[in-house]
Amino acid sequence: MPKVKNIFLDRDGTIIKEKHYLSNPQEVEFISGAKETLLEMKKRGLKLFIITNQSGIGRNYFSLEDFYKVQKRLDSLLGEEIFTHTAFCPHTPEDNCNCRKPKTGLFAALKEQYHLNPEECVVIGDKVSDILWGKNLNFALSCLVLTGHGSKEITRLNLKLPWQPLHYQKVETDFPLLIARDLKAAWQGIKDLDYV
Ligand SMILES: [Mg+2]
Ligand SMILES: [Zn+2]
Repeated sequence: MPKVKNIFLDRDGTIIKEKHYLSNPQEVEFISGAKETLLEMKKRGLKLFIITNQSGIGRNYFSLEDFYKVQKRLDSLLGEEIFTHTAFCPHTPEDNCNCRKPKTGLFAALKEQYHLNPEECVVIGDKVSDILWGKNLNFALSCLVLTGHGSKEITRLNLKLPWQPLHYQKVETDFPLLIARDLKAAWQGIKDLDYV
């Protein structure tokens, strides 16, 4: 199994606290341990990408400019250039675009630009659409975190868990899936299971 070189991160509910259609930069707030985890991933030489559905733009709840302001705030709180690229889908589900996760349109351009091999990629997110995105792309691993919408989303997976209060747990399913308490625990699992 090739080592993972690229980590695709959902933003809301995964890196920063879920605030319904976040558009105010002042409301950017890290999930506990997320900032340190991102810095450690970067230090380890991994490429980090943000991949985010932002239907609030398509719904006219906020502007593209608002979105960029939030991103800028996130970058400044991290204190250094962490993300290789931030890719977002501005559409609503009704637009039926090909870039809203779990559809894979956003990956195609990145794959070309950064010469990505799906076997060297991992996705981490708090929604079923995030992990299905990784499944659809044949990623090495998909991680569902239980922050944000995660604890509610996990019930949609019909997993024979029962979920144990561990930091993380690899799950037997038809694609490589890790359930983790939060981003920090997902990273611990990725390391412990020799993905990096
Ligand atoms: Mg999310
Ligand atoms: Zn889209």
